[in-house]
Amino acid sequence: MRDGPDPVTVLVVDEEEDVRQESRRIIENLGCRCLTVDCGEKGLEILDKEAVGLLLLDLKMPDMDGVEILRIVAEQHPHIPVIVITGLATAETVIEALRMGVYDFIPKPFDPDQLRIAVNRAREKLRTESAAHRSYQERLRTLEDLGTEKSRIHTIIDALPAGVLVTNAQGQVVLINPAFKEQIGLPEEIETGHPIDRYVPEKELCQLVMAISQGRRLAFDNVPPYEFSIGSEKFLQVRARPVLGEKDECLGAVITLEDITAMKVIDRLKSEFVTKVSHELRSPLSTIHEQLAVVMSDMVGQASSTDTQLLSRAKEKTQGLISLIGDLLDLSRIESGAVCEAPKPVILEDLLENIIDFLSAQAAAKNQSLTLSRPKVDLPPVKADPLAIESIFGNLITNAINYTPEGGRIEVRIAQAGINLQVAVIDDGFGIERRHLDKIFDRFYRVKTEKTRYITGTGLGLPIVKGLVDSLEGRIHVESTPDRGSAFTVLLPTA
Ligand code: ADP
Repeated sequence: MRDGPDPVTVLVVDEEEDVRQESRRIIENLGCRCLTVDCGEKGLEILDKEAVGLLLLDLKMPDMDGVEILRIVAEQHPHIPVIVITGLATAETVIEALRMGVYDFIPKPFDPDQLRIAVNRAREKLRTESAAHRSYQERLRTLEDLGTEKSRIHTIIDALPAGVLVTNAQGQVVLINPAFKEQIGLPEEIETGHPIDRYVPEKELCQLVMAISQGRRLAFDNVPPYEFSIGSEKFLQVRARPVLGEKDECLGAVITLEDITAMKVIDRLKSEFVTKVSHELRSPLSTIHEQLAVVMSDMVGQASSTDTQLLSRAKEKTQGLISLIGDLLDLSRIESGAVCEAPKPVILEDLLENIIDFLSAQAAAKNQSLTLSRPKVDLPPVKADPLAIESIFGNLITNAINYTPEGGRIEVRIAQAGINLQVAVIDDGFGIERRHLDKIFDRFYRVKTEKTRYITGTGLGLPIVKGLVDSLEGRIHVESTPDRGSAFTVLLPTA
């Protein structure tokens, strides 16, 4: 029957046959393997060959001095606990044996319980030691893994083509990679540990990074990419994100930097090309459009219905092309920053009333109601270019009219929202599926459904609106449900 902890191999070295036999019986009953020898030399041989866990040794050996055997064991097998079985131990021998690290003594003759207790105690010691050893090894491995992981991450960050900078919660820089230094033009040997403004020349960006590091800008969506230039030749785009701890506390910020100069140059060339082509096309197209109108009026009552149909289709198409060119020119003006250069205080509700007046005929043609809801009190003006405001709400209301069926309702609602004025253009029209919502502000993106496929458009209205709202430092947001309607909400800062 097994008793006690892990089985171990126990070696008994004793001259007396009876002692060896009795020991073997007791030890094997404890569930251990037992080897026995009658002299010191054989004992040492076995220790070299076998994985002995515990040694029972009589100090009185025919061939060797017991203390000498102890010395060799302590030297060559220091991890093996030794229990000394002895009948004739002098005080000196005991002291010497203890000095050699003997674990226990059993007097001779012993009763079985004494041996059982001593062996079990030694096994317990072995088990504790081996558990401690295992946990030490594991700790060592984990530390090694961590070390490797850390250096691997460092290598990866250092090799990234994008600039990376990390701050702590006080806004001090704790990590900066070579790409960041190169893009900003910092010396290679610059050390970490200083506040962010020591590394980044752009004041506004430093304020943003400080705000994020200190946990004042936690919402991810609220931190749009930030662009700035170094001189007039280099354009950089920054993305800054908070680093959150386990309890969502802010530990600092991570900033990535990308050189977008090439993209900017291509964009500019593309814009210049589009502007040039659009200008070249606009006049001949307008001429064709006007001439078609003349031909059509000259032919009233004379042309066949097929000819009239063909001509009006051609006129419609040229009108579409003229609108497209107008939109393209507007977009390139917005991109070049040529709009809203001289903003002035604008009374938004008056302007909206005019726009609604102008578009009410279009709505009436579709039997739609188009109304303006405004608070009774006067609202503060917004600082904007009136043409930009006309373009924003002209586009949004025209869309509402176009994408709402006959007899629908369109409401323009204006209200104050903190330091902003909020204008919502709400319709009960066709609505937009959720999957299209973040794409409708992209150029040329049009949602084609059974209900909207025959509505003409350029797909440039909303990009123009977004560009203008951005240039006024406002925000635009859309909520929509298919077949229930849409609400486009614009927030504009007051003057
Ligand atoms: P378009 O010239 O096609 O109107 P926009 O950029 O103005 O181009 O709009 C892009 C797409 O967004 C439209 O094609 C339409 O599918 C959708 N859209 C815009 N406004 C509305 C609205 N009020 N209701 C439903 N869909 C809309």
